[in-house]
Amino acid sequence: MAKLGANRVRITRARRLDGSTIDLVVSAGRIVHIEPTRGRGDGDLDADGRVVVPGLWDEHVHLGLWAASRRRLDLATASSAAEAAALIARAADVAPRGEILVATGLREGLWQAPPTAALMDAAAGNVPVMAVSLDVHSSWCSSALATRLGIDLGPDGMLREAAHFSAQLRVEAEADERVRDSWVREAIDAAAARGVVGIVDLEFDDAVAAWSHRAAPPLHVEAGVYPHALDRAIARGDHTGRAVGPNVEVGPLKIITDGSLGTRTAYCHAPYPGTADRGVLEVPPALLETLLVRGRDAGFSPAIHAIGDAAVEAVLDVVLRLGLHGRLEHAQLVTQADVARLARAGLIASLQPAHLVDDLVLLERYWPGRDTDAYRLRSLLDAGVRVVFGSDAPVSPLDPWRSIAAAVRRGAPDATPFGVDEAIDVATAISCSARSSIELGEPADLVLLDDDIERTRLETMPVYATLVGGDPVHGPV
Ligand SMILES: [Zn+2]
Repeated sequence: MAKLGANRVRITRARRLDGSTIDLVVSAGRIVHIEPTRGRGDGDLDADGRVVVPGLWDEHVHLGLWAASRRRLDLATASSAAEAAALIARAADVAPRGEILVATGLREGLWQAPPTAALMDAAAGNVPVMAVSLDVHSSWCSSALATRLGIDLGPDGMLREAAHFSAQLRVEAEADERVRDSWVREAIDAAAARGVVGIVDLEFDDAVAAWSHRAAPPLHVEAGVYPHALDRAIARGDHTGRAVGPNVEVGPLKIITDGSLGTRTAYCHAPYPGTADRGVLEVPPALLETLLVRGRDAGFSPAIHAIGDAAVEAVLDVVLRLGLHGRLEHAQLVTQADVARLARAGLIASLQPAHLVDDLVLLERYWPGRDTDAYRLRSLLDAGVRVVFGSDAPVSPLDPWRSIAAAVRRGAPDATPFGVDEAIDVATAISCSARSSIELGEPADLVLLDDDIERTRLETMPVYATLVGGDPVHGPV
C-alpha cells in the first residue's frame, strides 16, 4: 500500500457523527486544520461523505494467542465433550508427528456432562493435545501432553488457572518464533482493516521481549508485563511508557487476581449454585499489595484482572489504601457499593462488552439473580468511572465493532437484551473504544466507515480506511 506521506495530508468531505461534513489537514501525525467542507473532493484522500470516527483501540488483547487461534482448531461449536473429542480426533489424525496439537474455544462450562481424561485420550491417541478454553483460564489435555510436560492431570483431564497457565506457557514456547511472528503480523493487518489503530498486548509470555525483536508494527502497541516476568522487565529498565521501538511501548503490569466465569473460578461473594465453591482468589490482598508496590516503585501502572464481585472488592480495598491509579480489567460483577468505590479509586474500568453475547447462558446458570451487578456499563459511566473497551482476544475476536455493538444492544442482534438499563449510545461506545477525538491538535488516528452507522449491523460495520498518525494502514490509498 502506498503511503500518503507523513508530512501533510488533506482529507476532504468527511462526515462527523454530529452530521457536519468537514475537510481536514493532517501534518506530522496530528490534525492541524479542520473546516466545513468546500465540497470539492480534491483531497489526497476523499471521504466522499463517509463517516469519520477516531481510531479505535483494543485495550485488552492476548495478541500471540489470538494470532495463533486464527490458525488453530476451533472447538467453539462443540456443544458436548463427545463433539469436541470428535473434532480433536480428526485433527490428531493429520497432526504433524511430534508437534503439540493446540485447539482453542473450548466451552466445557456449557456442556451437560463434564469432560473426562478417558474421552480425551481416546480421541488424541499418542498425540499431545491441549484444548484451551474460550476464556483461556483452563485446558483439556491428553495424557501424551502430560507425559511430555511431566505434569499430572485429574480424572477429567483438565488443567485450571495457575496449573493451566504454566503448562500453556511451555506449550506456546515450543512454537516456531518466525512462524508465530508472521501470524501476529496477519492478525495486526486484520485488526487495521477493522479500524484498529492501537492495542494493549497482554500476552502471557514476555510481550516486551517479543516486540523488541519483531519488525515495527503499523499500529500503536503497548506491551504488558506479568508478575512472572517482572524481575526480567525491571532488569531491562522497563516501565510503563518506555519506548521499545517505533510504535511500541511498555504497557501496564498485569496482575490476575481471580479466575473467570466460564471456568467458575471468578471469586464471588456467593457460592456457585449447587456448590460451596466461591471461586479462586489467586492473588490475595497481601500479595497484591506487594506486587502493586513493586510495580509502582519501578514505574509501572497496574492493570488488575478481577471478574467476581469479591475479587473486585478485594482489589478496591488495596488500591484505595495505596492510592494508586491504573486499570481494573473485566469487572464483570460489581456490587452497588463498589461502583462508588471504583469511581472514588479513579481506576479505569477496562471492559469487554462482547463477552456479554457469549456469556448469557453462563450468567443465567452461574450468577442467577445477579443481573443488576453483572456486566455493568451505563451505571459505571454515570458514577464517573472512565470506561475503555477491549476484546480480550482470543476470548472474543479482535474487532472493536463487536464491543461497540454489544455495548449498544446488550446482546446478540436477535437475542433479548441483557440489562437494557446498562446500554449506551453508539457515540459513547465509540468514545470508549478510542483514545483521541476529531479535533484540532489530536493525533491523526482516524477511521472512515463505509456505511451509515444507523443503517448497518454495527458488528459488521465495513471500514473504508484506517489511518495511524495520518499514515494509511488499511484502505484504498
Ligand atoms: Zn485477558
